[in-house]
Amino acid sequence: MIVEERLVTYINSLDSGNTPLLEEIEAEAKKNYVPVIRKEMQSFLKSMLALKRPERILEVGTAVGFSALLMEEYNPVPCRITTIENYEKRIPIAQENFKHAGKEKEITLIPGDATEVLKTLEDPYDFLFMDAAKGQYLNFLPDVIALMADDAMLVSDNIFHDGDVLESRYAVLRRDRTIHGRMREYLQVLCEKEELETICLPIADGMTISTKKRNGKGE
Ligand code: SAM
Repeated sequence: MIVEERLVTYINSLDSGNTPLLEEIEAEAKKNYVPVIRKEMQSFLKSMLALKRPERILEVGTAVGFSALLMEEYNPVPCRITTIENYEKRIPIAQENFKHAGKEKEITLIPGDATEVLKTLEDPYDFLFMDAAKGQYLNFLPDVIALMADDAMLVSDNIFHDGDVLESRYAVLRRDRTIHGRMREYLQVLCEKEELETICLPIADGMTISTKKRNGKGE
């Protein structure tokens, strides 16, 4: 946990909760050890959606569809969501959840590896949520940027991996070293991209918000 636990517990105690169906999907996911976005990220997304009102959303990393359904539910305007997932066991569960919520038309799940799927997409998106394998964010980035409309917002989750990303390579498990090295590289590259304005925030497990700049001030 990168923020003091007492503070997180207090902030989360102020959260007004989600719809009963979302609560049910979240509880079921947790029971089955399926990762879903933390409460702080849920609140953050709701606020950003209220502000941005995006009509086209792209998510990398569906799991069982919790965050896609949350974004659809709490976006104040009607929207189309495209979400990508490569874990075969989770795909039918996510599809069933979208069906149960009556959101099959609004949410399209594209099965497959995001590295390949992203290259097949053409539409520009207004809001993009990166929440897949942390070691692959850097591979996804060029295609993700190409899919961002002017003023689009890209949110990348879990950038600090419980604070381990900051640790010396000798202080973390060998299997995590590559992932952390790649995440540090991702953050460096992302923050240096001239076409983006990026901020790293210590909220939830750490996140970046990158906004695609428009060309010229007067446009
Ligand atoms: N956004 C989901 C939510 O909060 O409900 C949680 C997503 S979970 C943290 C990450 C998901 O990304 C996993 O289900 C994993 O199988 C998927 N994933 C990882 N690497 C991927 C890739 N290269 N292409 C597509 N999906 C990937």
